[in-house]
Amino acid sequence: MKPAPFAYKKPRSLEEAVALLGEHKDARLLAGGQSLIATLNMRLSAPSLLIDINGISGLDQIAHKGGMVEIGALVRHAQAEHSDMMHKLAPLIARALPHIGHPAIRNRGTLGGSIAFADPAAELPACLMALDGEVETSGPKGKRTIKATDFFKGLFETALGPQDILTAIRIPAATKDTRTGFAELARRHGDYAIVGLAASARADGKGIADVKLSFFGVGSTPTRAKKAEAALASGNVDAAVAALDLDPHDDVQATGAVKKHLAGVLLCRVAKQLMEAQP
Ligand SMILES: Cc1cc2nc3c(=O)[nH]c(=O)nc-3n(C[C@H](O)[C@H](O)[C@H](O)COP(=O)(O)OP(=O)(O)OC[C@H]3O[C@@H](n4cnc5c(N)ncnc54)[C@H](O)[C@@H]3O)c2cc1C
Repeated sequence: MKPAPFAYKKPRSLEEAVALLGEHKDARLLAGGQSLIATLNMRLSAPSLLIDINGISGLDQIAHKGGMVEIGALVRHAQAEHSDMMHKLAPLIARALPHIGHPAIRNRGTLGGSIAFADPAAELPACLMALDGEVETSGPKGKRTIKATDFFKGLFETALGPQDILTAIRIPAATKDTRTGFAELARRHGDYAIVGLAASARADGKGIADVKLSFFGVGSTPTRAKKAEAALASGNVDAAVAALDLDPHDDVQATGAVKKHLAGVLLCRVAKQLMEAQP
């Protein structure tokens, strides 16, 4: 199918893009187009205007500032995947990126687009939750910083207002004590996951502390499993699996019961990663 007709504008500044969003209430932002164009082609959405943000400078940098890694909204998946800084300071995201679609998708898709789109089966929203990250936005009232825990509101629903543009995400830079783990189960590599798990922790003597387990594909948003986190921090993987506080619904990929079982399998794999010393 082909999309319904739309107008196209390519603003050169955030202010111009925010103003266009104010003038055209049903306009949509275009970043990498890897999700948006499919929804237009299937006529799931028919905006009168596409606002292409690719001409706005300053949104495609990865920087290390004040103990945080800041990743601009227009950083492509492939750019981050091949960045030494990401491997060193943002190892969880570096581990997750190769699981997103295929190279052609990662060449165009942006980190900002993945977070703003908030697909419940996507890798990066879950990573942002596992890292206690934050999102920076620009809107008619200026800049806002939103914690990841407050950002994902529901199925494809976020705290972004109608005139907000996501400009960057920020996560704490990894230190020598940072541990990360990532695993997902998909029918084929590159497909959206049936279930996935992004996790972080801090090395604490021979064990781990501050465990954060962020599952995806198990609900309408990335989901922290707090009871399992507490059990894993005490070093007992079987108890963590038994404590898994998830209640996934059936979807086109699997029943809720199968998803819950798979979540336990992933938890065992990720627990092993978290407990190993990491380079
Ligand atoms: C075959 C295929 C397989 C895929 N597999 C996966 C996968 O396994 N895992 C996964 O996570 N993704 C997958 N994707 C999606 C891909 O990662 C997309 O690139 C990503 O979801 C959206 O990023 P984008 O830059 O392409 O955004 P776009 O498609 O341009 O935009 C997506 C949505 O976000 C909004 N938006 C974009 N940028 C901003 C911004 N800065 N501020 C506010 N709103 C914004 C747009 O208006 C739109 O509503 C797949 C896509 C395809 C086609």
